[in-house]
Amino acid sequence: MLLSDNIINIKNIGEERSKKLQKLGIYTINDLIEYFPRDYDDRSNVCNIKDVNINEINTVKGKVITKPETTRIKHLSITKIRIDDGTGFLEILWFNQPYLKNSIKYKSNYIFTGKVVEKYGRIQMEAPDYEIIDEKELLSNGRIVPIYASTYKFPQKLFREVINQTLNNVKEQIEEFLPNEILKQNNLCSRKFAIENIHFPEDNNSFFMARYRLVFEELFLLQIKLLQIKGILEHKKCNIIIKDININPILNILPFNLTDAQNSVLKDIINDLNQNKAMNRLIQGDVGSGKTVIAQILAYITVTNGYQAAIMAPTDVLASQHFESFKKIFDKLNIKCVFLSGNQKAKEKRENYALIQSGEAKIIIGTHAIIQDKVIFKNLGTVIIDEQHRFGVKQREILSKKGQNPHTLVMTATPIPRTLALILYSDLDISIIDKLPPGRQKIDTIYVNSTYYPRIYNFIKKNADEKKQSYIICPMIEENEKTELKAVLSYTEKLKNEIFTNYSVECIHGKMKNTEKQNIMDKFYKGEIDILISTTVIEVGINVSNATIMIIENAERFGISQLHQLRGRVGRGSEKSYCVLVSDSKNNQSKQRLQTMVKYSDGFILSEKDLELRGTGDFFGTKQHGVPDMKIANLYKDIQILKQVQKVSMQLYKKDPLLLNDENKLLKAKINQFFNDIDNTVSL
Ligand code: ADP
Ligand code: MG
Repeated sequence: MLLSDNIINIKNIGEERSKKLQKLGIYTINDLIEYFPRDYDDRSNVCNIKDVNINEINTVKGKVITKPETTRIKHLSITKIRIDDGTGFLEILWFNQPYLKNSIKYKSNYIFTGKVVEKYGRIQMEAPDYEIIDEKELLSNGRIVPIYASTYKFPQKLFREVINQTLNNVKEQIEEFLPNEILKQNNLCSRKFAIENIHFPEDNNSFFMARYRLVFEELFLLQIKLLQIKGILEHKKCNIIIKDININPILNILPFNLTDAQNSVLKDIINDLNQNKAMNRLIQGDVGSGKTVIAQILAYITVTNGYQAAIMAPTDVLASQHFESFKKIFDKLNIKCVFLSGNQKAKEKRENYALIQSGEAKIIIGTHAIIQDKVIFKNLGTVIIDEQHRFGVKQREILSKKGQNPHTLVMTATPIPRTLALILYSDLDISIIDKLPPGRQKIDTIYVNSTYYPRIYNFIKKNADEKKQSYIICPMIEENEKTELKAVLSYTEKLKNEIFTNYSVECIHGKMKNTEKQNIMDKFYKGEIDILISTTVIEVGINVSNATIMIIENAERFGISQLHQLRGRVGRGSEKSYCVLVSDSKNNQSKQRLQTMVKYSDGFILSEKDLELRGTGDFFGTKQHGVPDMKIANLYKDIQILKQVQKVSMQLYKKDPLLLNDENKLLKAKINQFFNDIDNTVSL
């Protein structure tokens, strides 16, 4: 049997069981042995019967000294045995498992783990897990026992048997791929030891060794890969000379004073500009925290020093919104802004290209249109990227190459936990805007089920009567886009014709043409639409301060990050705003997630909570960054390991960036296999 073989080759795995395993993402033998336990149960302490703890789970070993008997009481069948371990007797019972009568062997030795109770003066163990003691290795008792995430009726006992048997078969094939030096330096156990002991730990220490190694390995592979991807963006010496920094003229025409948080970020930026290398900075600031003005000030500094500044935003709507807000300021300063979009007519584009190339256009704002070949800058000094998670590293690089190592500022409203930031942005310096501008009101968040619709609709009507606007978000799942789009459209019709007959209702969705979307957004900005029904296309950056109600239907379908983004669309003006999460989900995790949204409003706290709720797996933000799920590393708990990994991976990367040395060959192969096409999907 080879690691690459299909699981169907395993004894005891037929069509049906293999389908169940496939649902867990297990296709090959290798997938199976790398399907790490979700949890463990320490059953290694075998207790003498005379010392069992009442009302607790105990593990005991003993000989079956009575033939199993099954009795019936009404609907309940009880199967009973007695065991003896030399220190005492214990009665053991199972409920409604009459078949045990034939499978438990009289006079054989077994090991049992179950709760011991005292009833009517008798001490009994109820419904234990049991295992015969023979020459075979114990898997479910008398040791630290693995528990697998298995929702598809694949019993734990079977899981353990299958994994154990497979491991015994293939363990000699488990290859080490980490270079010897790294193993030694970091006290890592071998890969073989790690895989064996992560499933069936010999003892606590072996478990910790195994887990440490596997977490290290997982983060290490990711880190090396990210370093390789980002190698292209390394800090370079800068040819852009910024020597005059006088921002008073722009500060004087702003309608507000900068907050302390904004000032401190600005200080970081000015400090960067005074260095002799290109700035590479990320601003993280919650929605509405006022990142745009920072971009404007940086653009101002750039232009007043004789260079051009480019601002790239992920959507037309967002880019044109930026353009409007830049023009308001820079028109007054006599600095020319130009807007570029894929939707512009050829003639308009040509004119813009000419303005950019001649240097007449000082500030260039647009979508991906900015990075087209035809766009040639006269002297690009600064690149500003908004909502950067929407852009890949490659796009960031193309834009940078349009100048000579320009300064780069990327801005994101997607707060991410500290650990993830360390992983994703190790090449960037980070500034955080951690306070909102003054005068913002807290958005009241309400979590209700669908019986509340009549009240919700009335609430929206009342809001519209006061000339305030509302969003209704209907999520769509990609697989079902067609049918769901239909549902959204017919829902819109229903709301238009039956519920909100006297109001203006429109729908916006991802399948619309850009011009159509733009058209609807324009109307919404102007207040000509009372109620905007939307899939999630409005998620990023929209700023309509007159919108005060955000209804999110099927809220359980969204992750915390998206919910937070959506909620941030309201509460942008001085009016009190509300976010209503509608969900009938009975799933505990979903419920907890929505309750968390009700309780917290700070994006950074939410991001940490999200990580805490989910731990490993599809945690906050990874999916949208294109980073694969973690199998074992818990980014909430494993920050210390991560720090170590970052140190080690940086050392290795500096020595052998492309992993061409002999000792790194296997590592290189593993990385390639692990991330077949992350290059194209990851965005940092
Ligand atoms: P985001 O960080 O989400 O991009 P914006 O830059 O769009 O946020 O700012 C949100 C709103 O806050 C805008 O209307 C902006 O004019 C306003 N704003 C920004 N900074 C301040 C400030 N220091 N004082 C008052 N209002 C501010
Ligand atoms: Mg913004």
